[in-house]
Amino acid sequence: MKKMLVFILTALAVVACTQSPTGRSQFIMVDGDTMAKMGVESFTAMKQEEKISTDKSLNRYVQCVATPILKTLPEGWQDDWEIVVFDSEQVNAFALPGRKIGVYTGILSVAENADQLAAIIGHEVGHVIANHSGERVSQSTAANMAMQGASILSQGSDYQQAIMTGLGLGAQFGVLLPYSRTHESEADVIGLKYLIEAGFKPEESMSLWENMNKLGGERPMEFMSTHPAPETRINNLAQHIKQYQSQGVKAKFSRPNCSK
Ligand SMILES: [Zn+2]
Repeated sequence: MKKMLVFILTALAVVACTQSPTGRSQFIMVDGDTMAKMGVESFTAMKQEEKISTDKSLNRYVQCVATPILKTLPEGWQDDWEIVVFDSEQVNAFALPGRKIGVYTGILSVAENADQLAAIIGHEVGHVIANHSGERVSQSTAANMAMQGASILSQGSDYQQAIMTGLGLGAQFGVLLPYSRTHESEADVIGLKYLIEAGFKPEESMSLWENMNKLGGERPMEFMSTHPAPETRINNLAQHIKQYQSQGVKAKFSRPNCSK
């Protein structure tokens, strides 16, 4: 028991309370390098397991859309991203810590134009910049620890609340597991800013979610399972487009000219 207590206290010593780009406080107990390493490893495995698209024009199109989005990221984040197009009917896309982006060809029929694809990429990159997977892992790690040592920690620990939150969330982890609603809404808001700054039309993000909604039963896990109701999401986007406009957020680059 004493050993366990030492382990828990050591682990908690590296806990950091940080803030996401929208100002939400985050509980992080896994460092960025570890997350990046996990992201790179998962991506390498995916590239070995899944078919990679060799369609040059499609690859060029995805690169053309992603490049201006990546140029709008905070300093230190703009370079060294790897973007892979997977040849799959799956309607999905993701971004991982370690600067990896995967786009499935299936999503290119849902994203009708470059602006809508930009909305997807902005959203995915938003998850990475806000360290949502680091937060999710921290929560599940905390949950595991709590299951083993809740009786010790609950006695006046500052971390009690965080541990309890972790317990409520359960101990799940996997790169393509759905994010929480909070993470999804936050990725929308962060991604929207990148979209505007990259020179794309932010209103198209609303059309994108309308298209996603029309998919019905084939809804991709990343985008729909824990997402806010489509109407709520579209309303939130409309509200944030106005807010960004009133804050003077505008395109930093000329409108990208990308076509399939
Ligand atoms: Zn998402």
